[in-house]
Amino acid sequence: METQLEAACKLYNALLHAEQEEYEENKRTMSRNELRQLALDLRKKNKEFQALHSQVTQQVAERFYEARQRYFEGLANKPRVKKPHRYLSLVYPQSGWKLSNIREVGLGKNKKRKARLYLSKIGFFTLVIHRELPLERVSQVCVKLYPSGRIHVIFLVEEPESQEQPSEGEPRKAVGVDLGLTRLATLSDGRYLENPKPLERSLERIRVLQRSLSRKRFLSKNWLKAKIRLAKQHERVKDFRRDLFFKLGALLSQEYDVLVLEDLNVQGLIQKGVTKKRRLRLHDSSFSELRRILEWEFVKRGKLVLPVPSYNSSRECFLCGGINQDLTLEDRVFHCPYCGFTLDRDLNASLVLLKRAGWVPSAVPVELRPIPPLPSLGLKRGGKVGL
Ligand SMILES: [Zn+2]
Repeated sequence: METQLEAACKLYNALLHAEQEEYEENKRTMSRNELRQLALDLRKKNKEFQALHSQVTQQVAERFYEARQRYFEGLANKPRVKKPHRYLSLVYPQSGWKLSNIREVGLGKNKKRKARLYLSKIGFFTLVIHRELPLERVSQVCVKLYPSGRIHVIFLVEEPESQEQPSEGEPRKAVGVDLGLTRLATLSDGRYLENPKPLERSLERIRVLQRSLSRKRFLSKNWLKAKIRLAKQHERVKDFRRDLFFKLGALLSQEYDVLVLEDLNVQGLIQKGVTKKRRLRLHDSSFSELRRILEWEFVKRGKLVLPVPSYNSSRECFLCGGINQDLTLEDRVFHCPYCGFTLDRDLNASLVLLKRAGWVPSAVPVELRPIPPLPSLGLKRGGKVGL
């Protein structure tokens, strides 16, 4: 798998260089199909690339194309030469893979579902399957190697957008969500989600491991061991966050019919240039993941996601609409110079978003309440498991 990843990485960089040359010579960019074809041509000529399955080869072109499009849309930095240690996944579309021998092993608590996965040109993997999946609807398989050495196989399944019909006629409940750095999310009903304790502890542990790594001799045995320990901790944090986000999404989408978030695109159009950095930050950090997950949970339940312009949302007074120009990033409390309204900064912002979407909450929440530790969502054995 490492050989394949290396070949895929080289191919990616070759496409990047070809694209740059094409641009310098002819002042044009290559289309998706041209890139795919070029990838196949390179494979024909180069033995090293023949280690890759032909469809995987095209997926490398696809990945480059997507990265370039994100750059054109202002959502990401310019695609750069990839280093082999950062190129860690391969995608198999419809063909080149086969799942077989799905079976249950173990008893009681240790019961697991296992299967055998064949990936063309790589070989066989034994998988532990943690969800039911409709095999006939799998549209691609992604195999991903983590820096800690763990391997995940991700089956992508296409599903109709919503399974539940929105209930018509009933009054709809809406929630405004302000995403932030100090508090992960502040809801217009006064609840908020903070960085939870286990996460903070993991982050502290990362700092310790980082220091220990820097004391080791570069590339020595102990350095490599420390490196893997650090990678594991980073993965723990990622997993913990993702899990938390999914739980928050499930909670909100069960309580509310409409999710109101700031619209990053509209904001970009209004304040071009000024917000480029901010937009990049929003896309880079874990809130782009939080956003995606919240949206996904609502759409999945047939509910509505309303992005609203976020221009000045944290400076506007929820009560009178006045703008507090003097509000700085450090101010945690919003104070309106016109009507005297005073409220937590993020709570005010989430209420402003809600108002922009056309909802007027019956009352302004008086105090902020933390969301208690979220219960487990299932993935329990025996229960009904959704994808
Ligand atoms: Zn005011």
